[in-house]
Amino acid sequence: MRTIGLLGGMSWESSIEYERAINTEVRRRLGGAHSAELVIRSYNFAEIERQQMAGDWRALGTLLADDAVSLQNAGAEIIVLCTNTMHIVADQIEKAIDVEFLHLGDTTARAVVSAGISSVGLLGTRYTMERDFYRNRLADHGLEVIVPDEPDRGLVHQVIFDELVKGLVSGESRQAYLEVVQRLAERGAAGIIAGCTEIELLIGPDDVGMPYFPTANLHAMAAVDAALAPAGRNQ
Ligand code: GLU
Repeated sequence: MRTIGLLGGMSWESSIEYERAINTEVRRRLGGAHSAELVIRSYNFAEIERQQMAGDWRALGTLLADDAVSLQNAGAEIIVLCTNTMHIVADQIEKAIDVEFLHLGDTTARAVVSAGISSVGLLGTRYTMERDFYRNRLADHGLEVIVPDEPDRGLVHQVIFDELVKGLVSGESRQAYLEVVQRLAERGAAGIIAGCTEIELLIGPDDVGMPYFPTANLHAMAAVDAALAPAGRNQ
């Protein structure tokens, strides 16, 4: 089993779920008392959020790249960045390390494509919905990506930062999200990507009523696949 390095805490409300999902899946596959080999760097999210708002992406990229190297030096053989948004700086991280980087956009796109869907709705932070780093990565896999219009985009973003990263999960916000999902479906989305790792804490597959792609869980399962892949078949 290869060692997985997690860049987490963005926010810890979701990266703790990565840890749970990865360990649970390793135990399910290997049995007994087996669990994953992990090294973890978890951040103070208030600092990350402050730098995001200041547009300090370069500095954030340097921070994450340096810490990815530290995880590698601590034994990590696969790096998993536990947030969609911070994939804005994925290139900086990939350039700094020698081990595999499991890009969340690719993991997500593969799941959508293998469900036979070509037109998909994307929920996430404003950075993820409005910038092109994530939409383009999905488009590279042949997907047409539909993001909410305003004011829905603002609502989806605010619920993430004002509630979900603080551990607040409300029925009212769940209902508001489901109305956004409905409007995406009316515009042609045949599936929904929870493109922020906290969204799956608010809405689950049963709520959505169409194919649903929870990115944190998909990423965690891809990490286990990579960690347990036979030698030479790691990509
Ligand atoms: N966890 C979130 C994501 O997947 C948002 C937090 C962040 O801005 O990193 O995008």
